[in-house]
Amino acid sequence: MNRLDFKLEATAAGSRARAGRLRTRHNEVLTPTFMPVGTHGVVRSQRREDLLESGAQILLANTYHLLLRPGAEIFEKFGGIHGFMNWPRSVLTDSGGFQIFSLPGSRKMREECAEFRSYVDQSTIHLSPERSIAMQRAIGADIMMVLDQCVPSTVERDVARQAMDLTHRWAHRSLAARGDSPQALFGIVQGASFAELRIESARTISQLPFDGFAVGGLAVGETAVQREDCTATVTAWLPEDRPRYLMGVGTTRDLLEAVHRGIDMFDCILPTALAKQGVAFTSLGRRDLRRAAYRAVDGPIDPECGCHTCKTYSIAYLYHLNRVRDTQGWQLLGLHNVHFYMQLMRTMREHILAGTWLNFYNSQRNVLDARDSYGKASTHVTKAERQRLQLRQGRYEVIVHDGVGRIRDMDCGEVMHSVNDPAAEARLLYVEQSRLLERLKHAEVDPLVVWDVGLGAAANAMAAIHAVEAMTADGNSRRLTLVSFENDLDSLTLALRHTKWFAHLRHAAPRQLLANNRWSSGKNAIDWLLLSGDFCRRKFDAPAPDIIFFDPFSFKTDSALWTLQAFRELAQVCSGKAAELFTYTYSTRVRTAMLAAGFYVAKGCATGPKAETTIGLSARAAAARHERELLGADWLGKWRRSDAQAPFGSSANDESWREAVAAHPQFQ
Ligand SMILES: [Zn+2]
Repeated sequence: MNRLDFKLEATAAGSRARAGRLRTRHNEVLTPTFMPVGTHGVVRSQRREDLLESGAQILLANTYHLLLRPGAEIFEKFGGIHGFMNWPRSVLTDSGGFQIFSLPGSRKMREECAEFRSYVDQSTIHLSPERSIAMQRAIGADIMMVLDQCVPSTVERDVARQAMDLTHRWAHRSLAARGDSPQALFGIVQGASFAELRIESARTISQLPFDGFAVGGLAVGETAVQREDCTATVTAWLPEDRPRYLMGVGTTRDLLEAVHRGIDMFDCILPTALAKQGVAFTSLGRRDLRRAAYRAVDGPIDPECGCHTCKTYSIAYLYHLNRVRDTQGWQLLGLHNVHFYMQLMRTMREHILAGTWLNFYNSQRNVLDARDSYGKASTHVTKAERQRLQLRQGRYEVIVHDGVGRIRDMDCGEVMHSVNDPAAEARLLYVEQSRLLERLKHAEVDPLVVWDVGLGAAANAMAAIHAVEAMTADGNSRRLTLVSFENDLDSLTLALRHTKWFAHLRHAAPRQLLANNRWSSGKNAIDWLLLSGDFCRRKFDAPAPDIIFFDPFSFKTDSALWTLQAFRELAQVCSGKAAELFTYTYSTRVRTAMLAAGFYVAKGCATGPKAETTIGLSARAAAARHERELLGADWLGKWRRSDAQAPFGSSANDESWREAVAAHPQFQ
């Protein structure tokens, strides 16, 4: 029975490269050919329509995986893999030998069968040559493979010989099991990296009535030169009149070298596996879309390619898809790579038939799969990229001026403590203005509670801690409870990676705070608590404050913290205490909100380019002796003329804030 009707059409002069054709039960396959790998009955990320469009004539499917899932009965029900996948062209199935060898877990090779554990349900599976053939018959493959024993290319000669001998005995059993099935069956040559074993195996296997022959046990750790030598050794001993298949190989350059040495068929996961990483095979060599050099490059990834991806999308867009890890990036690049492999096989076949193979081979050896050298040298870019990424976390990045680091929010562009030395601003605006140290000098039963709203890179909190730790004599007599609020801890995490630029963080406290949500001083009476999450909610979880360092990002970014409603809630929380709030802004809208919420509002000290800042006093604080400069009639007059009167978050149909400000006791 002639199951494949292989016809050799041409052999290139000065080379063993061959062009041929074979006929399966489903279609004619022109060789040399590449078989995309559909491990689980699907080529990863690729639609059958795109595979048909690429010109793929035959797919490879993995018997081992399909035996575990979906199982033989599904294939029986759906009329084999062709019916199940709705795939009209040919399918070759491997036998499971390579998977038994390569997947993790224990395995035993016995004369009767291979024994191993299922990675799906841990059950013990016995795979004999007969069972492998039965499974491949159920799958309905056009071409089946014998079960073989695969060993690493580095094993000792004795081990390699034993595996080869077992493979030969199993070859006989596989042929017997195939019986009179119309499905084709290929024998496999083993022998690891020993030339004399490879020759012995090729001679033994080629004596048997197989429909084609495969070179197995390569692409398992040997060098490219070893692989090429081994391929040449084996093909020299294989009959001319049947197809030859190099299993699991390889890159585009590997294909070129193997065709040159007489191979007709290939399979490899690389086109789709590398696409997932962002790597494309092109007529210009490899292109690695992880490289920033491609960020803004227009035009197709391969100017010579006519695939859907190259006709439709720019390199910059594909770079972007890979960057944001969208599965479409993987799919589109995979589509191109499969298309490129198919086109390469067609081109090689044309040159063999046209008698121009050697020229083509020599012109392509150093082009195919060449290292990506577009733009700057890739090692340089990668290193710069790595350094840059170290300076970023989440939405934040570190910027450095004069050796002092600041945190910038990349989403909104705002920089924390942008205008001054962050530590100096924190000390002046919050620690000194609040008279923190004075208030800690005299012992009291209750601790002094300081809220630090907007922990950021902990500039304000650490300014307070450093100041208290520097107090003379016995330090603070009254206990300090510092409560920091933060909804995104990436800024502190990032700054802690770069303490050379954030000197205030060279202290045990911030790391412990991040790790445990609290830190207590060993020598001073200080407790530091972290309440992460939304301040609007978390403020109700904290002890009521005596002092508030109110330092979130501006309304543009942290809008919910600056509204009339937010200040009303804050006034409510502070109502039982003589509390003072310090903030960097002197915006009229913010002051209006504070006044309307019931705070008394005073001018705060100047800082940087700001002529003043703002202090809010609870009613009790305002009633007590204080030396704050409350806003007076002049401010109220300006407010009445202002076109920025309304507090943030107020609605047009509730202007009660207007009356509340005008009638505020501080102006009476
Ligand atoms: Zn393309």
